[in-house]
Amino acid sequence: MVKLQRRNPDERRIVLVGKTGVGKSAAGNTILGREAFESDLSPSSLTSECHKAKGDVDGQKVAVIDTPGLFDTNFSQEEVLNRIKTCISLSAPGPHAFLVVLQLGRFTQEEKDTVKMIQTTFGEDAERFTMVLFTHGDQLKNQSIEAFISESPDLKAIIRKCYDRYQVFNNEIKDPKQTRQLLDKIDKMTMANGGSYYTNAMYQRAEVAIEKEKERLLKEMQEEKQKELQALRVKFIGRSYRREETRLHVRYQCEARARAERSNNFTAAPAIAVATTCGAAIGGVLGIAAGPIGLVVGAAAGAAVGAAVGALAVGVSDRCTIQ
Ligand code: GDP
Ligand code: MG
Repeated sequence: MVKLQRRNPDERRIVLVGKTGVGKSAAGNTILGREAFESDLSPSSLTSECHKAKGDVDGQKVAVIDTPGLFDTNFSQEEVLNRIKTCISLSAPGPHAFLVVLQLGRFTQEEKDTVKMIQTTFGEDAERFTMVLFTHGDQLKNQSIEAFISESPDLKAIIRKCYDRYQVFNNEIKDPKQTRQLLDKIDKMTMANGGSYYTNAMYQRAEVAIEKEKERLLKEMQEEKQKELQALRVKFIGRSYRREETRLHVRYQCEARARAERSNNFTAAPAIAVATTCGAAIGGVLGIAAGPIGLVVGAAAGAAVGAAVGALAVGVSDRCTIQ
């Protein structure tokens, strides 16, 4: 079989958001064509933090960020904020696509709120980078997705908000056609967004913190790297050596970046500071997600934010913007 090769050299960063159990991790596995994320309904394997996995799909580099139910109401406000911070850090400098994962046949008030919350968290502009991904496509049987959508005015409204972009996955079958269709739609969406990814003040802070931490880690790993280079010099000469040297260099860069994304000054900053960098947006989310707690954050923000914001050197007036 002839494989279609995508020529885009840029990595596509895809963030999966949605309620617990809708099939986010399974969808991540379908995209990457391997079991990169644990997907199961057993309590022990429930995703409790954000995970990132990378792959190559028909020559297109793809990074998938799998999130726990970011807006599940049984988590404390602090937990929610910490998760959002990690999610931002793992998808910095910004995602090409937010996939709002919905399970076919399960669309309740909670699902409606989830979609609203995603849009408020990442700013209204995030809509331009959002697509609906339906899982459990096997439930459609002989019905078309269009017929299914037309039966629900709520669903129609959500999809319209996402500029009529959606994709159906049956995660039970490992058919790469589904992924190809999804990546084509993401390509089209990226082009419609001027070839760029979504970013805002929070994402930019995260990116700066990650790069700083990466440089620090690379310095820390320098001695180890030199030892490995020494070993390579004994084993290889000429072009082979240079090839191995480049490989080693890339490996260290990737490892340092991956470690820095998980832990840096942005992720370590108090959650409230992050809430304030995009104040109105996150305040809105917490308002919906946690009711009165959101207001407490808002009130606390007034008093405690000075110090917290100072830590991140971000003004309260920072707005979520698109690059
Ligand atoms: P998450 O909590 O959103 O990450 O959901 P998981 O990926 O862990 O999936 C929850 C359950 O739904 C698992 O038992 C999956 O096997 C199942 N599941 C996910 N996607 C599909 C699908 O497209 N069809 C069917 N039949 N089951 C699915
Ligand atoms: Mg999961």
